[in-house]
Amino acid sequence: MNVILMGPPGAGKGTQAEFIKAEYSVPHISTGDMFRDAVKNGTPMGKEAQKYMSEGKLVPDQVTIGIVEDRLAQDDCQLGFLLDGFPRTIIQAEALDGVMDKLGKKIDAAINISVPDSILIERMSGRVSCKECGKVYHLIFTPPAQSGKCDKCSGELIQRSDDNAETAANRLQVYIDQTSPLLDYYENKGLLKNVDGNRDSKSVGADIESILNGL
Ligand SMILES: [Zn+2]
Repeated sequence: MNVILMGPPGAGKGTQAEFIKAEYSVPHISTGDMFRDAVKNGTPMGKEAQKYMSEGKLVPDQVTIGIVEDRLAQDDCQLGFLLDGFPRTIIQAEALDGVMDKLGKKIDAAINISVPDSILIERMSGRVSCKECGKVYHLIFTPPAQSGKCDKCSGELIQRSDDNAETAANRLQVYIDQTSPLLDYYENKGLLKNVDGNRDSKSVGADIESILNGL
């Protein structure tokens, strides 16, 4: 099963990715990890990417795609993979199709976890995290036992500047602008599977499971 996992920030993608990884023994390939590994391992594409990152520049698509191709060609992807955070644009999606052709594979599904905007903003804007150990809480959904204090280490809970309502709304808008065309792209290919993410994570996971089992 070669699957792309999509969903806006705050949709619970991380939780579901962990679930899929454990249940189906396929690697969870997030863009961030993939970049870090490529740079750490000093692959030609990794070196290329580092050149841009060290100058604070955006890594060009062709380099990103090279890194994706290297990663998907590795042994642990033979039985499938879960791609997370890539592609983000139509150009990347088309390039991914090219990579898949080259590797003799195909994408089986693009799973989109959808949640109403207002709920996402509520979820995103209530996030606080421990200054000491990094544990994440949500003021409404998973509040700490004692206000302002970490349950685990009693550290101070702080709100990152990008976790307030206004930046949450901005991040969401950027995501929507970027990704809506991508949803159409996979819809037209008959690969888009929408999952209602406005429920508890178990129900969402059960839906994803039945999609994956039907592939
Ligand atoms: Zn803590």
